[in-house]
Amino acid sequence: MGGDETGSALRASQVFIVLCAPALLLLALVVVLLVPDVLRPGTAPGVLAAGFAAPPVALLAVVRHRRTGRPQGWWSVWATALLAVLALCVADPVFRQATVSGLVVGPLYVAMFCGKRSTVLHLALTAVVAGVLVAVLPGEPLVRAVRVIGVEVVLVLTVAGLAVLRARLDAAVTRAVAARDRADLNAARDPLTGLLNRRGLRCELSGVEDRPVGAVLLDIDHFKRVNDAFGHGAGDDVLVRVAAVLAATVRPGDLVCRIGGEEFFVLAPAGGIEEVAALAERLRAAVAADVGVPPVTVSAGAAVRFPDGTAGDVVDELYARTDRLLYRAKHEGRDRVCAEPGAGAGAAVPSAG
Ligand code: GH3
Ligand code: MG
Ligand code: MG
Repeated sequence: MGGDETGSALRASQVFIVLCAPALLLLALVVVLLVPDVLRPGTAPGVLAAGFAAPPVALLAVVRHRRTGRPQGWWSVWATALLAVLALCVADPVFRQATVSGLVVGPLYVAMFCGKRSTVLHLALTAVVAGVLVAVLPGEPLVRAVRVIGVEVVLVLTVAGLAVLRARLDAAVTRAVAARDRADLNAARDPLTGLLNRRGLRCELSGVEDRPVGAVLLDIDHFKRVNDAFGHGAGDDVLVRVAAVLAATVRPGDLVCRIGGEEFFVLAPAGGIEEVAALAERLRAAVAADVGVPPVTVSAGAAVRFPDGTAGDVVDELYARTDRLLYRAKHEGRDRVCAEPGAGAGAAVPSAG
């Protein structure tokens, strides 16, 4: 489960405990104040003490819960013990059976918030306690046996039903999270070439404004003619081919993105413009050397950005700068690289164009 789902489960578990505390106290008060005759003589103080213990124990469970970030399985054992004490203090068989039914609270908590093993253990413990409490009630053996079976069936079916419901909900949440992750991945990738798209590129960039980064913008030359002459499907194949060549030519860790129709953007760590220009030239030459049909060439603009303390968008800035250089490369005859002038670097990179 994701962090959000786990967080809300933990909150729900605390709410459950906090709501149970006044309910248990109320039960003790109602019995002692309204129907004291159902209790064994002299047990009223014990019942009240058990009821008033519920809020502080709930508080302790919530505090430990917040500290450890885990549900508190012991709280279920404590709730079972408290209800068992209450049930023992009750003499009236009907009231005793009703109190014993309340024992389901402990395993319900565990079934909702803990693992399968804990659920089985807590359910078994509670089933034994409930069975004994009902079995020792006075009455015919057959009647006692039916009472025990009734209590056990209600207990097991209630907890098992909740456990199944929780398992199904967990599975549904897991499926939903996987679907969300797949959707995120799809939203970050260009479906045709499998390269990152502009959104995916931004997701991959963290702290890029704090280190030198080189950018190369490449555009397929006369791509419209490819579509016109060979059809849109062949044009798509060319895009896939060029994408594969670019991805195979960059270094591991460099980012290749399809940023527009037949435009690709490469971001790579760079020490200076010479390095970026060399990368751009390698990419251009690799596309030109590819023997696919129809053959295509690319023009490219190359720029580098050093950290300057400004908070502008790095992708937008580098795209704008390389776009101007790409425009120049197109004007100068295509199948070439135009790089920004830098220390010791010429503006134009020798190329086959
Ligand atoms: P230049 O050398 O100046 O870049 O010329 P160009 O023909 O490559 O550029 P232009 O902008 O005139 O045309 C780009 C073409 O790319 C037009 C558009 O139909 C095509 N295109 C854009 N996206 C796709 C795509 O996903 N598949 C295919 N097959 N073609 C696409
Ligand atoms: Mg083009
Ligand atoms: Mg274009």
